[in-house]
Amino acid sequence: MGERGERGESDERGERADLSSLADLAHTHGCERILKLQVPAAKLVGFVAIHSTRRGPAFGGIRRRSFESEAAAVSEVVELATAMSQKCALAGLPAGGAKTVILDHPHLNVDAAYDAVGRAVAALDGAYVCGPDVGTGTSQLERVRARTCWVNPSGNDAGASTARGVLAGLRGVLSRLDGQTSFGGRDYLVQGLGAVGIAAAQVLVRDGGRVVGADPSPGAIARAQALGVKVIAPETVVHTTCDVWLPCAFGHVLGEAVAREVPCRAVCGSANNQLAPGRAAQILQSRGILHAPDVVVSAGAVIEGVLTVLDKGPDIRARVEAAIDRIEFTVGEIMSRSGPGQPPSRVARDMARDLLH
Ligand code: NAD
Repeated sequence: MGERGERGESDERGERADLSSLADLAHTHGCERILKLQVPAAKLVGFVAIHSTRRGPAFGGIRRRSFESEAAAVSEVVELATAMSQKCALAGLPAGGAKTVILDHPHLNVDAAYDAVGRAVAALDGAYVCGPDVGTGTSQLERVRARTCWVNPSGNDAGASTARGVLAGLRGVLSRLDGQTSFGGRDYLVQGLGAVGIAAAQVLVRDGGRVVGADPSPGAIARAQALGVKVIAPETVVHTTCDVWLPCAFGHVLGEAVAREVPCRAVCGSANNQLAPGRAAQILQSRGILHAPDVVVSAGAVIEGVLTVLDKGPDIRARVEAAIDRIEFTVGEIMSRSGPGQPPSRVARDMARDLLH
């Protein structure tokens, strides 16, 4: 991986940011910048990808997980940063997309890693605003916040906002299915009962939906059962009949084989990059199954993040909620533009491309 332009910028505290710019890699992947973050003393290697600042500052979370290689981490950070640009554009936000990945391993000094991410974000001076993602929760963000103000505000609740967006997208899907947007009297399958899945399940149960859920975590199962969710084994998800499957665990759940078999009428969930490479979107469409693009329905948290960082005016909570609820109409527009050979995911990608150029 050819590194060029060693920078090691200093932030407002005069701390060195441990960054090097990978200009060739950024060019190859269509990103404005890719930065490598290295702190040997902390055994830290990470990458920051800034895909686009064309519409405004780039927003995107910090993901910490193990990767097979640095190349795999770069591939993921680019994919996620690109999706964030698309997500912001489709939500009509004055913001672009970015992402950070930290390569996790047993010898990583986690606190020092987040200190270094904080220095890196500070050095970018507002071009990048970071937030939570897999492996990065409240306590890690507090360490980042000690070094930079360019962080998702602490009062925000990414899981709840994302769930609100999924439910708004679900109304758009249900309206398309049979003209009724009410959640009651239908069968739902929530895959992943974490922050987003449990919040969505709670509303669906409250509103009279029959909700089945799957999660390997005993804590998540107990919380879901207490709400009235019937729990099934994770491996049975793709064989379970329902009206709507809500993937809220991880990406690439929709491959061609699953698309051919899955017994549902629609798919609408928060998991990023649900479609595995291949023709799954076309197969779902040929079976009459509606797939609400995750790049649209998972935008609740970034809508909350962008509006609360860039617009601190009065009634901000009401404006955040109204903006998230508009996902229903974006989903409706995408569904009405889709047709043979134009599955909703392609319509969304084309709309985002037009908005980003
Ligand atoms: P989370 O980590 O709180 O929950 C994920 C849940 O999935 C966990 O409870 C985990 O045990 C469960 N899980 C793991 N393997 C599973 C399996 N095989 N079957 C079923 N469940 C399984 O994450 P979250 O914040 O709820 O996010 C859910 C998804 O939505 C993720 O893919 C995330 O990337 C995406 N997303 C989240 C946000 C956000 O703001 N939280 C925003 C956009 C997208």
